[in-house]
Amino acid sequence: MAIALGKYTSVDGFIPRRKYRVVTHAHSDHTVDLNKSIGTQGAIIATPETIDMLKVLYGKRIPLSKLRALRIGERFRVGEDETLTFVRAEHIPGSVQVLLENDKGFRALYTGDFKNPGSGTPIVEDLDVLIIDATYGHPKYVRPSQNEVLESLIELIEYALSLGRPVKIYAYHGKIQEVMQLLREYNVKEPFVAPNKIYKLSKALERHGYSFGDLVLKESDTYSELVKGGQFIEFDHYNKWHKCSNENWIHIRLDGWLVNSVRLKVSDNRWIVAFSDHADFNGTMYYVEESRPKLVIVDASRSNFATSFASKLRLRGFHAIPMPL
Ligand SMILES: [Zn+2]
Repeated sequence: MAIALGKYTSVDGFIPRRKYRVVTHAHSDHTVDLNKSIGTQGAIIATPETIDMLKVLYGKRIPLSKLRALRIGERFRVGEDETLTFVRAEHIPGSVQVLLENDKGFRALYTGDFKNPGSGTPIVEDLDVLIIDATYGHPKYVRPSQNEVLESLIELIEYALSLGRPVKIYAYHGKIQEVMQLLREYNVKEPFVAPNKIYKLSKALERHGYSFGDLVLKESDTYSELVKGGQFIEFDHYNKWHKCSNENWIHIRLDGWLVNSVRLKVSDNRWIVAFSDHADFNGTMYYVEESRPKLVIVDASRSNFATSFASKLRLRGFHAIPMPL
């Protein structure tokens, strides 16, 4: 799980005797063994947004003295001869790529999770090593554009609300806030409702410039009033999908694994919409082709397709290996 970057740093996992731990974003598959890092590593480095999300998700289990906020573009010296820099990644709020440079000119970058390479996620060039996430590194994962998916989602929401049926959206932390923001940008004005943890994460991100408009805590009197009117959009964690009840509501799961269509009707009131926070196969390939690193390491700890993706890269002339083997 952990990415060893340079001599002193482990990224998104724990490696004994490394002084620094970087968390690229607050998703649970990137915060594995955080307890071990808290116990033995000198500092946990993340963007201010990710740090505030970690505080909500982990509470007092992370001592504040261990957290070191690093902004995008700011350089952080690790050890005597290495520097870390965060580069923006479009994935969930706070996400970054991590660039390691040493004083001899060696440059390695781990993308972390990303989408929209070349626009929302800058493509870093002049790399000795590119460590890339390939969650959807198989040609069967090619998705319609995000705009198409979003327009389909909004159409479904507006249809439900026009019938007086509330909408409930299920997604992972971070994606929820990303979609809330996008819906506001697309002029969706109905109140949003969130249970406590999602509400707190959203409020934490509003301190960093995100703006979610009318957001109501589910455990509040305002919520009881809203339910009578039926005109609202509620959010819940992806894992609650199987518990969805409320037959009169329209339930929508946001799921990047749906391909070949923008949305899928599961039953009369249940839909899956193909909103993803990862590059698809073409996007992942595009990153490598534009970056042109000397060596590509495909992260096999978070993808089932790392071996096949690496072999496809080799066919295109890249020196590429999956790791761990
Ligand atoms: Zn993620």
